[in-house]
Amino acid sequence: MKMHMTGHDRRYAVEQLALSLISGEEFEFVDELPPDGDRAESCLHVAPHTVIATTKMWYHGVYAEATGRTERPADGDEIAQKRAVDYALRISLYRAVKKNLGIQPPWGALTGIRPAKIAEKMLAEGLDEVATSQQLKKRFDVTATKRKLMIDAARAGIEVERKLDKRDVALYVGIPFCPSRCAYCSFVAGSIDKWGHLIDPYLDALKREIEGTAKILRGTGVRVRAVYFGGGTPTSITAEQLDSLMTTLSGCFDLSDLWEYTVEAGRFDTITPEKIETIARCGADRISLNPQSTNPQILKAVGRPYTEGDFARAMAEARRVGFHSINADLIAGLPGETEKSFLRSVNDVLALAPENITIHNLAIKRGSNFHADGVPMPLPEEKDVARMLFKAEGILDRNGYRPYYTYRQKYTALGLENTGFSLSGHESPYNIIIMEELATIISFGAGGVTKLVHPETKFISRLNNHKYPLEYIENIERCTTDKEKVREMYLSIQ
Ligand code: SF4
Repeated sequence: MKMHMTGHDRRYAVEQLALSLISGEEFEFVDELPPDGDRAESCLHVAPHTVIATTKMWYHGVYAEATGRTERPADGDEIAQKRAVDYALRISLYRAVKKNLGIQPPWGALTGIRPAKIAEKMLAEGLDEVATSQQLKKRFDVTATKRKLMIDAARAGIEVERKLDKRDVALYVGIPFCPSRCAYCSFVAGSIDKWGHLIDPYLDALKREIEGTAKILRGTGVRVRAVYFGGGTPTSITAEQLDSLMTTLSGCFDLSDLWEYTVEAGRFDTITPEKIETIARCGADRISLNPQSTNPQILKAVGRPYTEGDFARAMAEARRVGFHSINADLIAGLPGETEKSFLRSVNDVLALAPENITIHNLAIKRGSNFHADGVPMPLPEEKDVARMLFKAEGILDRNGYRPYYTYRQKYTALGLENTGFSLSGHESPYNIIIMEELATIISFGAGGVTKLVHPETKFISRLNNHKYPLEYIENIERCTTDKEKVREMYLSIQ
């Protein structure tokens, strides 16, 4: 769709919302609108006391026009003025899209990946839950289900924040290997075929980074509250390699104050009883077993080997060695998925009662092979994905699972979210910390991003490790010495 801006240059504000409201559409910003075809004009008028935006939209032969207005902040407060302009532009665009398509977007005019933060801010400002919900409806037209989700996740965030001390941190360890690459994957994860020869040197480098960072952080008083092994698929490496890596970590950092230690064992073709036992013996108390679906045909279409009963076998093994917190990931909207088949997966997972169930929405990002590989089954319609999610949330609610963190990604149907659900008392602090940006996360491994959250100012800065394993191995010295910045920050606070 061609887009033209009149009276402003806030392209980002307009484009982000447009992308989440009409997924799959490409937007081209032009100096002049063509006389026909799909097109929209976003106009801004700033009056002495009011900011007024109008969007005119011609889409699939239908014309719609809508206005958004807000109070103009006082001169001199540039940030507040920009916010007011963005808000008016977005609201007018949202109303025009809603009129044009005749649908109610679940998240209304809200953009951004961390919706709970908005509810958290309102609650922190003294609004109660009813008033917060009313504000979210009035300002952004968020639907009742999503308002409740935002407030539930905000409450869980506030609970963890209350317990965090200013030197509390989390550790992330990345294993960027998988037995093969799933069609929708956009992570830095290479198949063992392609990168298998790098595993040993990678693990050596990873241990050097962990040991070096532990030395750097000596005397800073940081206290580790959560550990998370992700990837890739950490269980792609052998039980001996897992043992050696986890032993290195526990030898370098004091893990006696941990709230949680998670290892992802995402793909069933990597899980063995020996690995599950090793993970438990080396200190993890939470494991993530991720069927994504329990339908072998659907999984086959996206290149994830799955045999009937895989999830049940892994659950039984995890229970046998004593895991009391188990997460299971599902994805709504996979190719060939129907409401019936998705809800069957939800019920299959529920039948084994993992403490956490995370429901993702399929996001086809640029880094994936999804379109290049040609997936043999069609994607479900967006409205059907929204319905799958709505029904799944109802089922989980009736079974005692409450949402505790949520985030949105680009390229999902209707801008729908990913949400973690939990039985009471099993909410993962790591997931809350990462989503709400509550504390520093020190990341080890290729593609790792250490996110420094200043405990007093809440200012966030990042340290990026090299993205791919070979570059990471070759630059391990730099990735390690970069952690001096973590030390500096903790020494600078009282
Ligand atoms: S298991 Fe996860 S990280 Fe590995 S290829 Fe599949 S989606 Fe990517």
